[in-house]
Amino acid sequence: MKARIFDTTLRDGEQTPGISLTPDEKLLIARKLDELGVNVIEAGSAITSKGEREGIKKITSEGLSAEICSFTRAVQVDIDAALECDVDSIHLVVPTSDLHLEHKLRKSREEVKVMAVESTQYAVDHGLLVEVSAEDSTRSDMQYLQDIFQASINAGAKRICACDTVGMLTPERSFKFYSQLAELQVPLSVHCHNDFGLAVANSLAGIRAGATQAHVTVNGIGERAGNASLEELVVSLYSLYDVKTDVQIQMLYEVSKTVARITGIYLQPNKAIVGENAFAHESGIHADGVMKKAETYEPITPELVGHKRRFVMGKHVGTHIIKERINEMGFRVDDERFSQIFNRVKSLGDMGKCVTDVDLQAIAEDVMGVMTEKPVELQELTIVSGNKIIPTASVKLKIGDSERLEAGVGVGPVDAAIVAIKKTIEDVADIEFEEYHVDAITGGTDALIDVVVKLKHDGKVVSARSTQPDIINASVEAFLAGINKVLTDKIKQSEKTP
Ligand code: MN
Repeated sequence: MKARIFDTTLRDGEQTPGISLTPDEKLLIARKLDELGVNVIEAGSAITSKGEREGIKKITSEGLSAEICSFTRAVQVDIDAALECDVDSIHLVVPTSDLHLEHKLRKSREEVKVMAVESTQYAVDHGLLVEVSAEDSTRSDMQYLQDIFQASINAGAKRICACDTVGMLTPERSFKFYSQLAELQVPLSVHCHNDFGLAVANSLAGIRAGATQAHVTVNGIGERAGNASLEELVVSLYSLYDVKTDVQIQMLYEVSKTVARITGIYLQPNKAIVGENAFAHESGIHADGVMKKAETYEPITPELVGHKRRFVMGKHVGTHIIKERINEMGFRVDDERFSQIFNRVKSLGDMGKCVTDVDLQAIAEDVMGVMTEKPVELQELTIVSGNKIIPTASVKLKIGDSERLEAGVGVGPVDAAIVAIKKTIEDVADIEFEEYHVDAITGGTDALIDVVVKLKHDGKVVSARSTQPDIINASVEAFLAGINKVLTDKIKQSEKTP
């Protein structure tokens, strides 16, 4: 069995509060969706604005394989706007529940049916493929719903879609509801919203009942609690129901990341399939099991969806993981020293901290009595910043036996401080800043700030972190910790060379 995927990330997804995409951003996402293999891309609603039409036109002139669709109401101006954008199809939406008809549209059932039929005829006459869609269909009278769909099909509509606009279905009701519409014997779409967290479950039930296509958005973005999530639906169909789609499953993680970055709507870590923790293991028993055989605690492999498995060292970490990491770092430890290292990782975990590889290496070096002195130490840091001044920093660093003083300017105080430090160590090591990540651990402006930096040196990437109440100090300390890591490695290496 096979299901079609109608992606509405660029229409229903863009209706997420806070998202407004530029024409170029829409095009970028559309290209990714096409590569991913969705069957239909609902590129937007052409009537909305000039910018929206510009975005849709960019997409239709790109020559993508997917069918490009515009949302329209059952009015001629909307259809004309869609025609102007040269789309292949329209998603023609009419409200069908008495609630919407009386309170929103103030029209009778008969009047709305006439609108649907006339609009369908107009669009078909102008060469568009029409998918007629019933808004709030799950709170509509079934007799009327079948009636208006049948009339639209007679007028030339090729597909019908029933929207669970406020997410009121349950999987049981969804199965029954879509079964009744499947009786009409035309391609049928499920369109589910996630107000109760059931959008994917309801869509799956709809497909089992005979729907042939599902409306979804990447990462499940959309109004309120969002729409059915593309990645969850596609992978569930594939792994749990043996229903195929044309989606390239191994691209799902990458596409999810792209959409998150462009829309600015980031995922909760525990999001199914594509969340950062979807394949992360911390608990000792679980991590140990996964290392022996992944299936013990993973229903699918991360590779299937282009994701990665990750082990996190926190308070649940087991001995196995730490032993392996330490071995990989080249340490040979006896049982007593190992238990010292292990206990220190655990106690950091108890304090709510997750231990990075750099932290683990520092702990191990300390326990093993390896050099713990810092090649570079901060002596002084002065920052001047404000709204009418170029942010400026001066730093005094102790490097070996000498002291150096430098100043730098930047776009903000953190940038200025980093520029000054870079100048100071310029001739000591050639270090590139790869990544800078800030988290406020607690609420409020007095929150603890956790800064993680990734530095690149000689093709190797090292990460370091610092947690402090002051964002500038935390950033500077994290940067210096990374520099010291690089320099310590350098010293070790030069000692090795005869
Ligand atoms: Mn919707």
